[in-house]
Amino acid sequence: SRFDELHLPASTMALLHSLGYEHPTPVQMQAIPCILGGRDVIVLAETGSGKTLSYCLPLCHMLPLFPPTLPGEGPRVLMMAPTRELAQQISIYCKQFVAGLRRQTGDPNPGGTLTKTSYSTLLVCGGVPKKDLLTEIEKGVDVVVATPGRLLHLSGEETLSLDQVAYLVVDEADRFMQGSLEDELRKVIGKVTESLRPRQTLLFSATLPNNLERLARSAVLDPITIEV
Ligand code: AMP
Repeated sequence: SRFDELHLPASTMALLHSLGYEHPTPVQMQAIPCILGGRDVIVLAETGSGKTLSYCLPLCHMLPLFPPTLPGEGPRVLMMAPTRELAQQISIYCKQFVAGLRRQTGDPNPGGTLTKTSYSTLLVCGGVPKKDLLTEIEKGVDVVVATPGRLLHLSGEETLSLDQVAYLVVDEADRFMQGSLEDELRKVIGKVTESLRPRQTLLFSATLPNNLERLARSAVLDPITIEV
C-alpha cells in the first residue's frame, strides 16, 4: 500500500492495517509528510477527505518525543473543534491512534508520581461533568480535544494550563468564524501562542475567508498550504 511511501514505523503500519486503512487519501499523502517534518500547515479540505487521520496519525511519532506530562500539567496536544459533536468524533478517532502507544521511558523523577505508561485523551466540552474533567486533569492529560467555551472556562480558573501545548490543531476552522466562537478561538490561540516553546500549528478548513486567513497567520509560522 502507498502508506509505505510515508516511511511509517512498523507499529504504525500495523495499526493502520488493523483499522482497515490501506491507501492514504490525497490529503493524507500531502499533509502527513509535512506534519512529520515538523512544519505548520494550512489544509483546505472537506469532511470526508480523511483530514482527521492526517493530524491524528502523526501523534504516534510526536507524543513519545514530548516530555511526559506530570500530574496537573496541561496537555502537549490541543485539538479545537467548533461543535461538541465534532469534538466527540475527533476524541474517539484520536483515541484509536493514542491508546495503543506506550511510553518508552519511565518516570524521570526518582520516586516520582508519574506512573502512567499510556497516553490519555480528554474531551473538554459542554455536557462532560466538571468533576470528571478535574479528576482526569489532576492525573495529567496528554491530548485535549475541546470546544472553546469549556476550555476557556477551565483555563480562566487555572484548572487547565495551556502553557505546554506543542501541537495545536484547529479543525473545521471556518465554522469558528461566526458569533462568539470567533472571539473564543482567538483567545485560545492567544493563550497557546503566549508560550515560546517550539510549537506546531495545523489548521484544517473547507474554505479560507479573509478573517480566518488573518487569524491563521497570527498562529502559524512559515506554513505550507495544502489544497486538494
Ligand atoms: P474525515 O475526512 O477525517 O472526516 O474522514 C472521513 C472518513 O474516511 C472517516 O470515516 C475515516 O475513517 C475514513 N478514512 C480516513 N482515511 C482513510 C483511508 N486512508 N482509507 C479509507 N478510509 C479512510
